[in-house]
Amino acid sequence: MKTDKAEINHLAKYLQEIGHSLDNFLKFKHPDALTDSQNWQHKIEQPLPLDGIGIDKLVQELNQLVIPNGSPVPNPNFSAFITTGATTSSVLATTAASVASPQRYLKTAFNFIEELSLLWLAELCGVANLRGVYSSGGSVANLIALGGARQSAYEKLGYDPAADGLTSPGIIYASEECHHTIQRSAGVLGLGRKNVQIIPCDKLGRMDVRALSQAIKSNATLNRCQVAVVANAGTTNRGMIDPVYEIACIAREHEIWFHVDGAYGLPGILDDRLKEKYKGLEHADSVIVDPHKWLGAAVGVAATFVKDRELLQRAFTQEPADYLEGSALAQQDNHSSDKEPAHSMDDFGIPYFDYGVELSAPCRGIAVWAILKEIGLYGLKQRIIRHNEMARLLEKLASAHPNLEVLSPAELSICCFRYVDASIKDLNQFTQVLHRRLIRENQFLPSTTKVNGELAIRPCYIGARAELEQVEGLVNAVIRIGKEMTHSQ
Ligand SMILES: *Cc1c(COP(=O)(O)O)cnc(C)c1O
Repeated sequence: MKTDKAEINHLAKYLQEIGHSLDNFLKFKHPDALTDSQNWQHKIEQPLPLDGIGIDKLVQELNQLVIPNGSPVPNPNFSAFITTGATTSSVLATTAASVASPQRYLKTAFNFIEELSLLWLAELCGVANLRGVYSSGGSVANLIALGGARQSAYEKLGYDPAADGLTSPGIIYASEECHHTIQRSAGVLGLGRKNVQIIPCDKLGRMDVRALSQAIKSNATLNRCQVAVVANAGTTNRGMIDPVYEIACIAREHEIWFHVDGAYGLPGILDDRLKEKYKGLEHADSVIVDPHKWLGAAVGVAATFVKDRELLQRAFTQEPADYLEGSALAQQDNHSSDKEPAHSMDDFGIPYFDYGVELSAPCRGIAVWAILKEIGLYGLKQRIIRHNEMARLLEKLASAHPNLEVLSPAELSICCFRYVDASIKDLNQFTQVLHRRLIRENQFLPSTTKVNGELAIRPCYIGARAELEQVEGLVNAVIRIGKEMTHSQ
């Protein structure tokens, strides 16, 4: 007899109801959530429920109050930051896993797919020589990769930094355009945020390799532990690819761990026009990529790839634990005649929980698997080429217009530009106001960034819903608002 108050069945009925409101949301006919917050916010901000309203009323609230006031992120005209809405296959796969395999361990179909999808992802990103582990996002993926780097660097000095703690801080080299999760990783790993040595970039925002070389040489004479060199395969600000090959050569020359942050841009390797820029990737000791960016997975999926997962195990193991009885079971099995697992609980499968910082974790590979099953490598390639083409078109339109200035040309799917006019006194302030007005219209939703100190409008095309015709729309909207603003000056 069921005594628990929670509904544990009838997914078909409720998923269908939610599905209808989600489909409706995805028509993007609704205003921004804050436009009429007075109509919903107070209805949500209620005291802690004592009795609960039951599943039917709950689903009703989700459908009527919550979903219609969701995020602008999946909107096709949203081109801010580097984030996107999930495609249908990824939503279905993620939902399926949440029900049918709430953990990634134990030998289930989901567990097999976890590894298979990592192999597929490595192959399509040009790092088939590496083995992976999923985590929640680029932040954690960088942390895991640099944890591997730390382990490797200090083991060479005769220490186990994960077991014994750090004896002395070590240096990580990264460009001034690196994602700041590199610094945070250095902080968490006990290396120290300030020990990330920032290497200057050229005008386009790519690492100056001569400066890198000099920095390494001067630290080598000081006998400091050199932990890693980080290259960007697609910077967050401008989508630039560092000179991967040259950086790889320098790292190899000095025997320093070579990490490539490709959270956003690694799948850019599928665009044949850019392939050459990824040369050197095969020398990477670690690489990260975020399937929740260009692949369109529901948020919470990143992958770290390394040459040697045993190193990650030494960096991140929690040591054997009694409550993980199955790991002991697998060892006992070595002494018994019956070694082959015959039940999904006989074996945890690949110990991903020892390769990173999460024990309980969702099956993330299922989303990557579903996306690639659905559209294949060619489908993804087509998306990436289309988005890179959009940034190139934007660059072309902006270069051709007398009132627009390109601040950063298109390499991947980002192009930075601004409105200019001889009458504008403070361009940064003008751009800020123009951008706010643009956002308030709720038609085109790019973000901004600084390019060599100048504020720029920064669209990043990444979502499966982003199509070529949006580029002209954004350009026209910026010109229109810029004209209105200069006329009323
Ligand atoms: C987005 C991004 C990250 C951080 O990834 P999250 O998934 O947001 O944690 C790290 N590095 C680069 C280059 C990125 O673009």
